[in-house]
Order: sequence, then C-alpha cells, then structure tokens
Amino acid sequence: MTAPEFNAVSPQLLRQWDNDHAWHPFTPMSLWADECAPIILRGEGFELIDVDGQHYLDGISSLWCNVHGHAVPAIDRAISAQLQKVAHSTLLGLASEPSIRLARALVERAPAGLTKVFFSDSGATSVEVALKMAYQYHRQKPEGPEDRDTFLCVGQAYHGDTLGTVSVGGIDLFHRCYRQLLFATLSTPSPVATRVPTGHTKETWLAFCFEEVGRLIRENQSRIAGVVLEPIVQGAAGILVHPPGFLRQVRELCTEFDIPLIADEVAVGFGRTGTLFACEHESVNPDFLCLAKGISGGYLPIAATLTTERIYAAFLGHPSQGRTFFHGHTYTGNALGCAAGLASLQLFEENRVLENVQVTSMRIARRLTVLQDHPHVGEVRQKGIMIGIELVRDRDGLIPYEAKLRLGHQVTLAARRRGVILRPLGDVVVLMPAPAMPVELVDRLCDVALECIDEVTANAGRDQ
Ligand SMILES: *Cc1c(COP(=O)(O)O)cnc(C)c1O
Repeated sequence: MTAPEFNAVSPQLLRQWDNDHAWHPFTPMSLWADECAPIILRGEGFELIDVDGQHYLDGISSLWCNVHGHAVPAIDRAISAQLQKVAHSTLLGLASEPSIRLARALVERAPAGLTKVFFSDSGATSVEVALKMAYQYHRQKPEGPEDRDTFLCVGQAYHGDTLGTVSVGGIDLFHRCYRQLLFATLSTPSPVATRVPTGHTKETWLAFCFEEVGRLIRENQSRIAGVVLEPIVQGAAGILVHPPGFLRQVRELCTEFDIPLIADEVAVGFGRTGTLFACEHESVNPDFLCLAKGISGGYLPIAATLTTERIYAAFLGHPSQGRTFFHGHTYTGNALGCAAGLASLQLFEENRVLENVQVTSMRIARRLTVLQDHPHVGEVRQKGIMIGIELVRDRDGLIPYEAKLRLGHQVTLAARRRGVILRPLGDVVVLMPAPAMPVELVDRLCDVALECIDEVTANAGRDQ
C-alpha cells in the first residue's frame, strides 16, 4: 500500500490538503479557503484547466512569465530531449552544454557590451547578484578601490523579495515591515505624474523628477555603487510607464559619473514592451542586465545577470588575492531551464513573436479607448502588452476606493466566473497577455476585463 498522497485523489481531497498545508505567496490566507481558487491540473495553449475541467484564459501570463503559451510542443520536446541526457549538473567546477549555448544566445541578443552571463534561479537572485557584483567591483577595480556604500533606486521600485532586493525596493506595503533589516539606499522619485505633490503641475513634477535624479547622482557620486531601475515600466508599482528620455538620461548620468547602471528587465524583458529588451527603446546599454520570468518561456525557474568585460575584469587575479565572486546557487544554470530558454528564443524568431506583440498591443490600446470616459477608471497605462487599469471611486479627483473593498480582487473573481485568470495590483487591474497570444484571445481578454470592470464598479456604487 502506497501512501494516499502518491495516488489519484478527488478534487475535494486536494482542496482539503491545499487548505491544510499550502501557504500561498502574497495571499491573505484567512480568506483563502472560502475563495475556492481553481486547482490547475494542466495547460493547453493560452488556457489553464482545473481539476473540475474548467478552462481559463491565462490573462496574466502565469504572473508575467509565460511567453509562447502552455504545453508548447517545441519547448516540451527540448526539455524532454535534455531530460534524456541529464536534468541538472552544477556550474561550480563544471560546465554544461545547455548553459553554454544559452549564455551565447543571450549575449548575441542583448544590448551591446554585455558579454558575461551569471546564471541563478529567480528574478530576485538575478538582481541580488548584480548588486553584489557592483558593490564588489568598486572595491577591486583596477583604477583604484573605492568603498562605495549605497545604491540609487527609484521610488516604488520592485526588484524581488530577498532582503537585498527589498533594500532597493520602494513599495511600502510589501517592504516597510523589514526596514530595520535593510541596508540604506538613496531614492529618486518615480517619474510618473498620475498624482503630483501639491504645488506641482504634471509638467513641473516630471521636470523635477528628471532634475532630482541628476542632483542625487552628482551629490553622491562617490558613494553610489550602482543605479538600479526597472527600465521603461515599473511593473509591481502598478504598471507605471516612464516618460520617454528618462532611461536615456539616467544612462548618460551613469556614464558621466562612471556609475554602473543595473537594468532589472525581469518583467519587461522577452518582448513584453514590444522589443526583446526594454532598454532597446532608448538605445541604452546597461552595465548589468537582470533577466528571469520570461527567460525560459515561463517554464522553469532560471535567471541570468549579464555584465560587461570591464566589470568582469575587476574579479580576475590570483585566487589568493580573494577577488573571486563568492556567490552561487545550487541550481544555477539548470540544464532543463537552459534547454527551455533556448527553445523559447528559437520560437521568438520562428513565430515572429515580436511582430505579434506589435499587433496585439495596438489592438488592446484600441479596445481600451472606451475606458477614457469611464467614471471609475482613473488611468489606463500601457506599454506593449503590459497594461494597468487603475480603478478609482471618483475619476475627476482620482479618489481611490477604500482598500477594504478590494475592488481589484473583485474584478479577479468576476473574471474567474467568466473563465479568465487575472491578478490585480491593489486596485490596478493588470492585463498581461503572453507575447505570443493570438489576437482573438487578446480580444476575449479585453472583453472580459471591460465587462468585469463595469460590473464590479457598478456594484461598488450600489453598496454605498
Ligand atoms: C517579478 C520581478 C522580480 C522578482 O522575480 P522573482 O522571480 O519573483 O524573484 C524582480 N524584478 C522585477 C522587475 C519583477 O517584476
């Protein structure tokens, strides 16, 4: 007799075990059991199918990572073929074929100058690696060591949930509890003008944001080990789209004061903004490029931190000099993940995925124009296929709904009843179709989102 957990069990028993044992991320667990969230059994194209046989359109790319859909034959085959050889071998003291190939493929496609690839296993670790490398770089650089002790980050940034990445983050709700555990950073305001401080117009506020980053860099140039940002779009902050020129300006300041620029493309990379990497929009070559989420097509937990020959050179020398980068993760460069990553890059080209993003992003923009006069939509933000629709009680004053109404979450529940998976950021409804999602399904995603926003905001008015 084998234990019951190794045999087929009923959906009811699965649900019971989920409620008994699984602690879900970013989830208020006191409400979890009552919500009866779908238990996913399998995926098919751009849909997920649960234990009751219900189909759901994956409207958030399984939290922003899926690229070509689920159960994609070419990726499945690549992983199976690798599995016939070996599932994992370490990169500590050994090399592996798939990690070599993927490193090469990433360098070929990344912005110029990024020729060294350090693998890890999540977005947070890819940023953590860049922070530690930048910090150590200044202590070892051939021009003469410097004890630079801080990083410049952007207000409301999100770079992951490890303590290093929380230190460079700025989302109060997620981060404030841990303040005493974090290292000190400098923060420049996020250059967005949805709501501006009193005394400012939208124009003067944006001008201030552009000036402020320059002032902070100039005044702290000898202390800043790196400037870290999410290029073009700040995802977790609510899909905040930066004005054109901000990234380029930061690049120019970093060049002028010789400070490494760390581009966290964990969310925006792999086609989400319309180009393979978001830095391409402003012809920016960062000193570090952090990649995760879409890197494996959304299949497996791998990540990469790319950097330049110049940064790399500071870590060379006789082992006794102690210049080595003493950092690594057990599953670094996992063979199955790298095989998936290679297959995903090949599909980008074969299926002209970036061209699909051009088509679907324009389609979405057109479909969402109806929200321009919606009484409960404060703003629609979009870059490529990253969309944030901010719900507000009162559109003219941009007055938010009370947090306890959980309007964004209500939209998720309404969408679920219509067979679509959404996940909001507070009261920002997020649409994040996979880059390869065909236009018919993108239409359906828009239809359902619009219907749910109407339904939920109409009901919220009624309850008052
Ligand atoms: C999701 C995300 C991360 C963290 O990635 P994980 O794989 O969840 O650790 C880091 N940076 C950005 C911009 C992200 O959107």
